[in-house]
Amino acid sequence: MKNTPVQKNQELEVTVEDLSYQGRGVAKVDHYPLFIDDALPSEKILAHVMKASRNYGFAKVIKRYNDSPDRQLDSESAYLQTGIAPLQHLKYEAQLRFKQQQIEELLHKAHLDQIAVASTRGMAEPLHYRNKAQIPVRMVNGQLETGFFRQRSHQFVPMHDFLIQDPRIDQVLEAVQAVLREFEVPAYNERQHSGVIRHIVIRRGHYSGQVMVTLVTRSRKLPAGTQLAQQIMSHCQDVVSVYQNINADKTNVIMGKQEKLLAGKPQIEDQLNGIKFAISPRSFFQVNSLQTEKIYQYVAEAAQLSGKETVIDAYCGIGTISLSLAKKAKQVYGVEIVADAIKDAKQNAVLNGITNAEFKVAAAEEQFGKWASAGLKPDIVVFDPPRKGLETKVLENTLTLAPKKIVYVSCNPATLVRDLQFLTENGYQVTGPIQPFDQFPQTNHVESVTVLERTEK
Ligand code: SAH
Repeated sequence: MKNTPVQKNQELEVTVEDLSYQGRGVAKVDHYPLFIDDALPSEKILAHVMKASRNYGFAKVIKRYNDSPDRQLDSESAYLQTGIAPLQHLKYEAQLRFKQQQIEELLHKAHLDQIAVASTRGMAEPLHYRNKAQIPVRMVNGQLETGFFRQRSHQFVPMHDFLIQDPRIDQVLEAVQAVLREFEVPAYNERQHSGVIRHIVIRRGHYSGQVMVTLVTRSRKLPAGTQLAQQIMSHCQDVVSVYQNINADKTNVIMGKQEKLLAGKPQIEDQLNGIKFAISPRSFFQVNSLQTEKIYQYVAEAAQLSGKETVIDAYCGIGTISLSLAKKAKQVYGVEIVADAIKDAKQNAVLNGITNAEFKVAAAEEQFGKWASAGLKPDIVVFDPPRKGLETKVLENTLTLAPKKIVYVSCNPATLVRDLQFLTENGYQVTGPIQPFDQFPQTNHVESVTVLERTEK
């Protein structure tokens, strides 16, 4: 093995130069990058090397000699280590700048410096914003505990105040935990692939206050499932729906493909910008409701609809963007791969009296081919893909569909920039700066909206 400039367990003094996209401090030792948790640029650190692989290493802070002016001094490191809030040690204004710079740097690397990035639109209260929690459950000293796994490890840390979740979700979680203990339901044991409860998933409508609890189990059997669910509902009046979801696989994917309603209603309801939505347990729903409303308003403004337009909403989930544009468009088509989400989308159209939105269950890469062959001519395409961005087939068929305008909502700047490279080389230009929105405060996730127009008429 090549000699590395630092060895495991070595202690050394370094000055942090940069912040990685994951929010770790980066120090260089003879050009060799050392990644350090809870360390910010300009801070001088006594570091202990935890791991030294060929091209980079990880270290932890033994002593910090000075504080960066961007350091949030009252942060609690437990959250940083567990990875719930990896940017919590950075002042909020600096977090917003960091996210803008992430996109700028990626554009620069792709030689797209001509595209500008606006300042990130943040939250007034950047805590307790998540309307959904997915909490792992394990046995600790013979007792069922909820908590978190430490970053880069399998160490389970019991935890009760999750800082970035809706505080009511934390309370319901406590109640669910107490009921599971009372019924002596064993938690999942990963090593032996035994036990029952793997995760507790809780969703709460930001406006409706309705709560859905999903118990993710390894086994099909959940002893006294119905009584347990009723007990949860009697302790928490706002819980209107309790599900069991079965995930028998050895996997880190949280939800399995089967579920059973144990008590209450099959969906919870909530709203965004005054539009009502029914939400099923496995349907995607944006986790930060207040910021999502701002994003959808921005998308609607960018679309500049007059009532004559045909719009495609690709990766539409339960139809949130489709339905927020439908009232001002002639026709909206949504496509989404999760069948339950499309069922929700259709129901949501009815719920809001919207008749000009049509939804298809399909992979976008397949459906775009079909629409292109059918000669569909959308005026506007809205993209809101998962982290992996747009498939080549989607991009190529978009050129055939030839919309005048594309509005690209992205949760991953790396794939956004990759896709912008393709689109700007193939007849589209970015109009105005990319607009980042802080959808996930205290974390390193970067959400943004980009508007493109076709250059050839
Ligand atoms: N626009 C929606 C959902 C965005 S999340 C909202 O704002 O709520 C991305 C969605 O893409 C998820 O619902 C996911 O199920 C869906 N998805 C993932 N891969 C897909 C694919 N290949 N084709 C279509 N939809 C896909």
